[in-house]
Order: sequence, then structure tokens, then C-alpha cells
Amino acid sequence: MSNKPKQPEEHCSFCGRPASQTGMLLSGMNGYICADCSRQAEQIFKEQKLQQERQFTIQQADIPTPQAIKDFLDLYVIGQEAAKKVLSVAVYNHYKRLKYNSEHGDKNEVEIEKSNIVMVGETGTGKTLLARTIARLLKVPFCIADATTLTEAGYVGDDVENVLVRLLQAADYDVAACQRGIVFIDEIDKIARKSENTSITRDVSGEGVQQALLKLLEGAEVNVPPEGGRKHPEQKLIKIDTRNILFICGGAFDGIERAIGARLNSNVIGFKGDEARQTLDRDNMLQYVQPMDLKKFGLIPELVGRFPVLTYLEPLDREALCRILTEPKNALTKQYEELFRMDGVQLVFDPAMLDLVVDRAVEYHLGARGLRSIMEGIMTDLMFDLPTLEKGSTFTLTRELAERKIRL
Ligand code: ADP
Repeated sequence: MSNKPKQPEEHCSFCGRPASQTGMLLSGMNGYICADCSRQAEQIFKEQKLQQERQFTIQQADIPTPQAIKDFLDLYVIGQEAAKKVLSVAVYNHYKRLKYNSEHGDKNEVEIEKSNIVMVGETGTGKTLLARTIARLLKVPFCIADATTLTEAGYVGDDVENVLVRLLQAADYDVAACQRGIVFIDEIDKIARKSENTSITRDVSGEGVQQALLKLLEGAEVNVPPEGGRKHPEQKLIKIDTRNILFICGGAFDGIERAIGARLNSNVIGFKGDEARQTLDRDNMLQYVQPMDLKKFGLIPELVGRFPVLTYLEPLDREALCRILTEPKNALTKQYEELFRMDGVQLVFDPAMLDLVVDRAVEYHLGARGLRSIMEGIMTDLMFDLPTLEKGSTFTLTRELAERKIRL
């Protein structure tokens, strides 16, 4: 290209505007380009290049093994072996399915179906933590949505499509990446209808949201408003294919133990019935959860059918709570030790003090969530005075001191 002085009759070959409107024109072999069009062309080239770089190719070596995924979960989540195993396999298969689909395109001989997951477990036992930890490990977009904020289209609240908007945002508006992401939907139990009986007593709103959710899970193409919020007729919608998006749901399903117990009791009546009843672990009935229990709880059968993998979280006992305080990579005690270290003070926790914290958490029935508030209650005063402590000193937090702080 050479730089020619502008001619009155010359026009930009791209936008057609004359040089009198565009300013300087660059001439090529058979035409001209103005500054605006050349900027636009540069932008298009950049976007194309970016898109090519993002082109998704999964190599076998990129896929972490289920054991490697579980080992990673072990760093952050205490216990919950059953759920960890199920999640590790589900994520492993998710990767493999993406690889298979990217290699075979539409000519799939075997269609590998996805295995959406439901995790049932008391509040504060680690459902969200598991999902968040998986997200750290994954190289696919991930988002967390709360089922309680979802409503049927036309009601106050979030349209179900907004779940996908969040995933799209997590994927930096890269639709292809979004279409292979993972969505965690928390509190799925809160959209259960209040009675299994589909008569006049049913809770229509909950069921409506379930129906709307079903649309996302069925592997349909869903139109989403890119900015979220309500769909407006004038808004440009983005089409998202949910076929390869993995959905993981979590819920406490308060009271589901009764349905499980009733089912098990009726199953074991008869020969050897008493023996079987006695071997049931009554303290942890969730481990026997089956899809029909979710139905009984108020999830519609179509929705239950879309979650082929069902797993549970164990209630956290004293020992687990104690381990949660000290063992995970970002355990509370490690966090406080780091905060003290930044002020040049070594913090030491008296084991008896940690026992006290666990006792209180058990007493308040707050699960692991209670540990943080109890610790904060004890630590706030100490951290207020922290800058006045001598640098290089050691501070031992004793049970007596903690008791005084809790009593205050
Ligand atoms: P929920 O089951 O209600 O989703 P969360 O995952 O939000 O519970 O747990 C709340 C907090 O309790 C977490 O941020 C984490 O600090 C702690 N916690 C809960 N369960 C565990 C666990 N099994 N291992 C380690 N920390 C846990």
C-alpha cells in the first residue's frame, strides 16, 4: 500500500464515503480504505484471532483423573467421601464427553449423555464448598445460582434463563465456552411443591419454576438476554445450547429423612425385616436417599429424571468440625495465623480452646458455618490489639481467654 494525496473523486471502497467526508484515504491495488474502515478491519482481525485461540481442543492429557480430582477436593473439603467420589467421576466424564463431541462432531455413533447431579445434605455441610472447589480446578466456565430467587417468567424475580446469563458472563461472553460450562444451583429443595399430591393443594409457583428449569436441563437451545434481567422485545437475544452444560444442584431437603425412613420401613417388612431395620444407620438416613424420595419431597418426576446422579453429604460430627478448623488448605486457624504473622506475631492455638469452639458450634446447631462466627467473636478484640503486640513475640490463645471473650 502507498500513501497518496486525496483525490476529490476517490471513495472508500468499504463504506463508499467520499474522501471529503472520511479524511485521508489509503490506496491499494484496486481501491481505497478510510481510517474508520481500517480500524474496524483491525478489530475484526483481532476478534477472529481471539476466537481461533479459544477454539476448544481437549487432549487426553488435559483431563484430570477422578483420583486427581478427589485429591484436589481433599485439600479443601473434609470428609464427604461419597459426594467427592461422585463429583470426581461426573467431572471426569464431563470432560470426556466434551472431548468425544469435539472429535466426532455431529457424527456421533454413541451419544454420551451428561449426568446432572443432585447433592442432598444439611445446611453447612459443604455442598457449596464442593462446587466452588471444583470450580477452582476446572478450566471450564462455572457459576452458582440460587433457586430461591428464580421465578416463572412474568413473576417478580429472576427468569430461569438468567442462570445461563451468569454462566455466559463467567465465560466472558464466549458462547462456545459457555456451552460446555458447569452450573451449580443451590437450594433446589426450595422450589419443591409443598405436596406430592397434584390436586388443588399443590404449590403452583414452585412447580412452574421446576418446569422452566426443565427446559434448561433438557438440552434445548435457550434464548438469553445478554445483560440479564427480563427479556424485552427490542433486546437482542443470544442462543445458548445447553446440551453439554453440566448442572449440579444442592439442597438440604429438610425432613426428607422421614420419607426415606418410611420407604425403608415398608421395604423391610417381612422375612428378615427386623434384622434389616436394625442395621439401618438412623443418624445418617440421607445415605439411603433415592430419586423417589425427591419426588415425594415435591420435585416433579420429569425434573428428578434429569438428574441421574444422586449423592448425599454426611452430617458433620465433632471430629469433622475439629478437622475443618485446622486441616483444609484455607482452614480458619491458618487464616488467623497468617493475619498475626503479617503483624510479626506468631499465633498458637491451645487445642483445648479449639475444643471449646467446636462444642459451641455443636451446641448452636450451626454446622461448620458456626465455626467462623464463634471464632470471629473470640478473635475480634485480639486483632484490635494486635498492632500493639511486640514484633517477634508468640501469642498463645488459651481456652480461658476464649471463654472470657465468648462470655463478653
Ligand atoms: P452448604 O452445604 O450449606 O452449601 P457450605 O458449603 O456453604 O454449606 O459451608 C459453609 C462453610 O462451612 C464453608 O464455607 C466452609 O468454610 C465450611 N465447611 C462446611 N463443610 C465443610 C467441609 N466438609 N470441609 C471443610 N469446610 C466445610
